[in-house]
Amino acid sequence: MGIERIREQVYCHEVEKELATAAKELYGKSLHELDDAQVYDCVLQMTKDFIHAAKHIRGDKKIYYISAEFLIGKLLTNNLINLGIYDKVREVLAKYGKDITAIEDVENEPSLGNGGLGRLAACFLDSIATLGLCGDGIGLNYHFGLFKQVFENRLQTAVPDRWITDSSWLNKTDIGFDVCFGDKKVRSVLYDIDVIGYENGVNKLHLFDLETVDDSIIKKGISFDKEDIEKNLTLFLYPDDSDEAGNLLRIHQQYFMVSNAAQLILRELHEQQIDLHEMYKHAVIQINDTHPTMVIPELIRILTEEKAMDMDEAIDIVSKSCAYTNHTILAEALEKWPLKYLEKVVPQLVPIIKELDKRVRSKYKDKDLRIIDADKRVHMAHIDIHYGFSVNGVAALHTQILKETELNKFYKIYPEKFNNKTNGITFRRWLIACNRELSDTITGLIGDGWKKDANKLTDLMDHINDREAIERIMAVKEQKKSQLCDHIKAKEGIEFDRNSIFDIQIKRMHEYKRQQMNALYIIHKYLEIKGGKKPARPMTFIFGAKAAPAYVIAQDVIHLILCLQEIVNNDPDVSPYMKVVMVENYNVSYAEKLIPACDISEQISLASKEASGTGNMKFMLNGAVTLGTMDGANVEIHELVGDDNIYVFGKDSDTVIDLYAKSAYVSKDYYKKSKVIKAAVDFITDKKVLAVGRRENLKRLRDELLNKDWFMTLLDLEEYIAVKDRAFADYEDRAAWGRKMLTNIAKAGFFSSDRTIAQYNEDIWKL
Ligand SMILES: *Cc1c(COP(=O)(O)O)cnc(C)c1O
Repeated sequence: MGIERIREQVYCHEVEKELATAAKELYGKSLHELDDAQVYDCVLQMTKDFIHAAKHIRGDKKIYYISAEFLIGKLLTNNLINLGIYDKVREVLAKYGKDITAIEDVENEPSLGNGGLGRLAACFLDSIATLGLCGDGIGLNYHFGLFKQVFENRLQTAVPDRWITDSSWLNKTDIGFDVCFGDKKVRSVLYDIDVIGYENGVNKLHLFDLETVDDSIIKKGISFDKEDIEKNLTLFLYPDDSDEAGNLLRIHQQYFMVSNAAQLILRELHEQQIDLHEMYKHAVIQINDTHPTMVIPELIRILTEEKAMDMDEAIDIVSKSCAYTNHTILAEALEKWPLKYLEKVVPQLVPIIKELDKRVRSKYKDKDLRIIDADKRVHMAHIDIHYGFSVNGVAALHTQILKETELNKFYKIYPEKFNNKTNGITFRRWLIACNRELSDTITGLIGDGWKKDANKLTDLMDHINDREAIERIMAVKEQKKSQLCDHIKAKEGIEFDRNSIFDIQIKRMHEYKRQQMNALYIIHKYLEIKGGKKPARPMTFIFGAKAAPAYVIAQDVIHLILCLQEIVNNDPDVSPYMKVVMVENYNVSYAEKLIPACDISEQISLASKEASGTGNMKFMLNGAVTLGTMDGANVEIHELVGDDNIYVFGKDSDTVIDLYAKSAYVSKDYYKKSKVIKAAVDFITDKKVLAVGRRENLKRLRDELLNKDWFMTLLDLEEYIAVKDRAFADYEDRAAWGRKMLTNIAKAGFFSSDRTIAQYNEDIWKL
């Protein structure tokens, strides 16, 4: 049954009937007698039934998107929207006295990712199904995901994020495979989550798991016995890898993921009676960052050892099937596993990896191209580049840096493999679902063609001089700001002025993203206000971020921001003019509330370090104006909106790359030269801060900024302050600001992940 049929049924009041049936079946009651959690279960069952009845997308060739993370967010709202029945369900629930937003709140957010990379994978699955392409995601079913962030004494603590309940979207299958490690064999079990396209068919997200996993081994916080693989394998995403046991666990997880993926793919090819020599004509594997890289030697191993293919041909066929996406140029994030770890965990892959390395060595003299280096470390990205047919970066600047600098030696030998695919976001989640008010306003102005063809948003530019249209968009912003105020007051207990400027920085906590620079601006403003210089309008600085538990400086930045929150918000001289809010446990659901309410979007990474960013796109689409460096996709945002509709500052990537090459950046020089910088940096360990914070953390952070500052915060700080002040001043010209908002929304169409996926398909997958 297609979507058309589902909508027809809905027209016949099927939703009400289905919900009533579910209520009877599950609880033996009628809908109005149930509490929100029970109603949620009924809506879940009905939605699953509708999805079950919808058509499964099929095709002669299939894309398998393998990723260690899928940050999918809550699914109910999106599934209802994509089925085309959201409004109907809302009406029916209202009839029974139920508010759909309260029902939506019942769902736990799946904890299957940590940041942009995982969120991208989720947006891609939505777009693959929306475009009607045959393609599934493959990953792991982490029981406790990353972790839940709790603030205690202004420090981050991590507790397990138990997201799986009886009311989850997971469907257990009867599929499972044997997976062999060096010292043991385990049996996997496959769970599926349906992925429904926007008014289109259904694909799947396959999540592999192990039945022997046992949460009773979790001790304090999120610590557990890292050596008990049968009990811990899928407990957590990215368990702490600061020691050998953590590294070995990660390798176990990665191999478990790809061995299952390889077996599932071969099983599906077998079911379709496809000759494995023609595998690449029917299956394409997208390797999302290096975590799934071992799928290459694993497939070669199975083809040669179990399917009797000769090595040359197996390598050729696998290479024609696999494509690699690079997500970062941060050196510490490029995986290099010690060969001795692989010998321990996956000895069966080692001869294959050595063979792959041998072939590279016989062909190319340059040591930098090798897979196994002189220190006996295996460079995972090098396997992908030599033995995949495509290498893509995720924004124009990022791909250019890969070609010209980071991967230049590979680019020279394989120019034809390199291509760019600028990231995108699904407009279903990041506009239609999270900002219905704006979505409806846009539709009121230009019709709803933009929902299927995002480029039609440019029609909004016809309204650039339409005061009334712009006022409507600004009224929506005020409404979303007001809703966020109420939400934050309820959740965090912090109150702030709904007419203040909302300046928001939400993303993983990392030095390269430079939350510390934003914190130094806040200190600077605090000192200015203390000195009697009052701003024209109150300002609210909002942060949301989790830090990796082993990343000490990132924890210190969180600590500083929470100390500033305490000091600023409680200082009667200052708090009428500014507030600081760091929300707890930032995740997709929080992002959906924060992004529609934002005035100024902070995208201030050190140029060359943020591969693309996708948060920047979500904000733009919701009418925020970017304050950013010329980094990642900010460069493309700037190109689209023009100088008047974005605030750009900071040294460009060429300058930064040059500073690194010459080791020419000395942060202390900037500190000594500028009174403003000195005052802000020194305040980190001022007695006011020490009164609410911990000396050890604050001193370590100040020392880091003064003596190392690897991501060059002080390099751009003065210009950041000047440009941010200018943005705040411009905000006071309401008509001009409204035009900036409208322009950003109108030009955001390019960043639809439907466009990104169409390009992947056109250039790489060719389905
Ligand atoms: C979009 C998103 C990200 C990525 O944000 P960036 O600013 O691109 O780093 C991270 N986390 C969540 C929850 C998101 O929704």
